[in-house]
This record gives sequence, structure tokens and C-alpha cells, in this order.
Amino acid sequence: TGPLLSVRDLRKVFNAQAGFGRPSAGVRAVDGISFDVEPGETLALVGESGCGKSTLGRLILQLIPASGGQVMFEGVDLVHLGTRPLREMRRRMQMVFQDPFGSLSPRRSVADIVAEPIDSFGLAPSRKARREMVADLLHQVGLPSSVMDRYPRQFSGGQRQRIGIARAIAAGPSFIVADEPVSALDVSVQAQVINLMQDLQESRGLTYLFIAHDLAVVRHIATRVAVMYLGRIVEIGPKARVYAAPHHPYTQALLSAAPNPDPDIPKRQIILTGDVPSPSNAPSGCAFHTRCPIAQARCRMEAPELRPVGGGHQAACHFATDHPIPVPS
Ligand code: SF4
Ligand code: MG
Repeated sequence: TGPLLSVRDLRKVFNAQAGFGRPSAGVRAVDGISFDVEPGETLALVGESGCGKSTLGRLILQLIPASGGQVMFEGVDLVHLGTRPLREMRRRMQMVFQDPFGSLSPRRSVADIVAEPIDSFGLAPSRKARREMVADLLHQVGLPSSVMDRYPRQFSGGQRQRIGIARAIAAGPSFIVADEPVSALDVSVQAQVINLMQDLQESRGLTYLFIAHDLAVVRHIATRVAVMYLGRIVEIGPKARVYAAPHHPYTQALLSAAPNPDPDIPKRQIILTGDVPSPSNAPSGCAFHTRCPIAQARCRMEAPELRPVGGGHQAACHFATDHPIPVPS
């Protein structure tokens, strides 16, 4: 069997307003991205805010229309699918949102929130069956069924995210895009929610695209890691390889910023300065060259393509070879 999801040359161009000294031009928020996700795996998508991660997640689920490219899900191209068959496909793919406060309607009871997909796809034959389904879903996310008649404001952030996860699994999806599901939570609660997601992955055979801005957050849950910078994937590979031998200076910088779980392995230190440039004013050539400690003249002219660096691992840097890039001390 093939991949569950195949993304090919996916693009999203937002129309920017012309401003003083700035021509009206399309902002390439997602700039030709391709990757596969295998059934049962967790692909972690990592990068700073403003790199296009959420836009990519929404494009995959067809919550916003693509400007070009393909999203093949279970062998069907969603980008060119009509409204009705797309609606059917939506049962199979769901989203967990970053903000467990903003993404749950405050005026709806927990039962009504969790049952949204059940109602929308007409999955409950009766009121009683619906309550039973909701109780079972709450149980699966570690909440007592007695919470179903309460309202989101009565719950902590971690509990709200459990409610959001119960809603996401309610219609029996095979694939979930989790857009920074723990970023808004206390560190002490983050691991609990990630553990819950892993348990559900095993018990329900789920496949995840797990978006995070921090490599430390996904170390436990990821099968593979894709690193995104200004609308492109700059590195992708099996988790063990990306953490132990990052080939792109941006990945190395993100790892430098994360706490070192294994002090016996010395870390290369690259300190990122400044913010991600605006996609409306993306640097020429390699978009990372304005922040890259090893940039050369060539980097300003020529955009590097993703290419294999061994072990199912790819990096988009002119100086990535079979060995991690040596970093000047
Ligand atoms: Fe740095 Fe050049 Fe590699 Fe881009 S291509 S990451 S600027 S060395
Ligand atoms: Mg985001």
C-alpha cells in the first residue's frame, strides 16, 4: 500500500496590497512543497511562526484553496475534487487547533462540541446513541462522561484540548492535522496531551501531521521531521537522523535553541538572530541566507533544491553533503 497522503508541488499565493515603494505582488506563503505521509506515522512539521506551517496544514485539509499542486489523500486528489465528494472525504481528515480557548464555541455544551462531526455526518441514529457516542469519546480522551453538559469555560487548557481532540476523532478519521496542539498549554500539561495523542494513535490507527514551532516538543511523538522555512521544506528525514545529524543550518539553529536532552552529545551552537523575513519580501536565492552563519555569495543568487543526504533524509542547502555541515566555531 502507498502513502496515506502525497503532497506534490503544493502552492499558496496570497494577494498582497500594493504599498508605498512596494509593488502589488503575490505572497508565496507555501512555495512548491512535496512530501508523503505513510499510514500510522507522525510527520512533525517544525519552524518558527510565519514560515507557512498552518497555511500548509489548512491547504492539505482543503480549508483554504490551493493556488497550485496536488494533495492526494487515500489516492484521491483533493485539490480538484468537487464539493460533495470532498465533504465525504472530510470524515477521514480532521484538525486539532492550537488555541483550545478560541477553537471551542463558549455557548455550546461539551456534548454539542464533541458531537459536531457526528451531527454533521449524521452518524448517530438517536439522541440516546449520540449521548453514548459522546460519553465513549470523552472516556477515550480521559474525561468523565459527566462533563458533557458543562461548558468550555469550566475547563483548564489541557482539558479543553482533550475536548478538541474528542471532537477531532468523533467521525472516525484516519488522518489528523494537529496545529501546535500543545503550544498554548503549560509545559507540565504538554506531555500529558502528547501522550494522549500517542495512545489514540495506537488504539485508533491514526496518522498525524503534527505542527510545532519547537523541535523539543515533537521529539517524543515524531516518526519523521520536516523543517519549514519561508514556505519551503528545507530538511526532512527520519527523526533519529534529523536530531542527531541535522544537515541544514536552520535545523541546527532550531536544535541549538532546544534544551539538550543528552549532555554527552555536544551540540553545535547556532544562534538565530532576527525574525523570519516577511514572505512578502522573501530574500533572493536561499531564503535563509540573511540569517545563515555559513552563507556564501552563491546563496544569494541560487535557491537550493531538496536533495538526498542519505538514509531517507533530504536537505536544501548548497553545502549539505553526506555529512552534517561543519559549523565554524
Ligand atoms: Fe546557508 Fe547557503 Fe545553505 Fe542557504 S544554501 S542554508 S544560505 S549555506
Ligand atoms: Mg501557525
